[in-house]
Amino acid sequence: MLETRGYAAHSPTSPLVPFSFTRRALGPQDVRVQITHCGICHSDLHQARDEWGGSTYPMVPGHEMVGTVSHVGSAAAAFQVGDRVGVGCFVDSCRECRACTAGEEQYCESHVSWSYNGTEQDQKTPTYGGYSNHIVVDQRYVLRIPAALTPERAAPLLCAGITTYSPLRHWKVGKGHRLAVVGLGGLGHMAVKLGAALGAEVTVLSRSERKRQEAIRLGAADLVSTTGDLSKLVQRFDFVLDTVSAPHPMDPLLESLKRDGTFMLVGAPDKPLAVGAMPLIMRRRRLAGSLIGGIRETQEMLDFCAAHNTPADVEVIPIDQVNAAYERLLKSDVRYRFVIDMASFT
Ligand code: NAP
Ligand code: ZN
Ligand code: ZN
Repeated sequence: MLETRGYAAHSPTSPLVPFSFTRRALGPQDVRVQITHCGICHSDLHQARDEWGGSTYPMVPGHEMVGTVSHVGSAAAAFQVGDRVGVGCFVDSCRECRACTAGEEQYCESHVSWSYNGTEQDQKTPTYGGYSNHIVVDQRYVLRIPAALTPERAAPLLCAGITTYSPLRHWKVGKGHRLAVVGLGGLGHMAVKLGAALGAEVTVLSRSERKRQEAIRLGAADLVSTTGDLSKLVQRFDFVLDTVSAPHPMDPLLESLKRDGTFMLVGAPDKPLAVGAMPLIMRRRRLAGSLIGGIRETQEMLDFCAAHNTPADVEVIPIDQVNAAYERLLKSDVRYRFVIDMASFT
């Protein structure tokens, strides 16, 4: 067993504190990754505070990990010591169901082993995430980080990047499309970069008019404040990608879609979102959800970000500032992703 140091929440209301635990010994198919950086996703906060229900403790959050391979198992031929790699939101799945065989492991019909707040395939052994100094993962669930991406700016791609890339690709968003991105946070800023790189005309819908210059720098054509009258947006967009982390009015956003437009929901508020029937049925609009992305598509996204120069914009912090970072995240006070520097563990 491998002694590991991390930061854990012990209850929904307690701050994260230093925590020691063990990881499994290296198996033949495993690689051991020395984690150098881990992004802070709003899902970490939702789960640490048990906002979705069913959280298990102690919880070591973190599913945007980048690091260096330090050990390879005897049959883990895909990687070598020294490779720069990433680990995202899941570390295993059944590998046999329709979803797994289609390369959509995040939708595994049997059991997804989430990187934390979950269990291994035995459905008993708890998983611990990336706010820690190393992790042992089967090589099939490990990503390659292209050399063009720095580790701290690559880390958020493992969740914020793939969560926005996957629906944009699935619904073939691109040239000639008008895309609205709702909420300019970790996911939102990647949605702007990726939507623009795919050729769409991007409009940011944000509560904060102050983010206008930032939105344009990131690749948006415009920003519209959601605190004002949205009637001018009626039937304007082909797609809406909603990344908002809290309950918010949906109907004006649905009405901003053209006939046959698609609403792509990725934000996961802790309470149900109210949706009127009329905005959907009157213009045959579609309301769809999307969950991160599979291993193959995550690798494709990383390579796309390297080729199109779309790394995340990050604020690097030492691990002892994680609780302060959660408070700032709640106030949308981050440009645009906190990333923990694991060297601060020493
Ligand atoms: P984040 O950085 O906190 O960004 C969320 C943004 O939502 C904020 O920047 C803010 O944008 C807006 N917002 C926050 N509170 C709001 C409110 N009360 N009303 C209206 N807008 C509000 O969070 P994130 O890490 O991007 O995650 C966003 C959501 O996606 C979370 O719920 C997370 O759990 C979920 N998520 C889902 C998936 C998936 O697979 N589907 C994957 C990762 C994360 P403005 O200030 O610009 O308005
Ligand atoms: Zn996430
Ligand atoms: Zn499966």
